[in-house]
Amino acid sequence: MTKKSNICKKCGYVIDDEEMKECPICNNNKFTTFWQGYTIIVNPEKSEVAKILNINHKGKFALRIG
Ligand SMILES: [Zn+2]
Repeated sequence: MTKKSNICKKCGYVIDDEEMKECPICNNNKFTTFWQGYTIIVNPEKSEVAKILNINHKGKFALRIG
């Protein structure tokens, strides 16, 4: 990984598309590139990780921000 993706500061969503100016999930436009690790939520209803992180959407989410 050479370049770090933008992360939504609010929900942790990993924004791979540089053109994207706001988070598709929470519409927040504050991003950070300081983060560590991510998890991929495929099935938010059944995922234990999604429950812990309070995520209701599919996608990539950063585990630690800041
Ligand atoms: Zn967000």
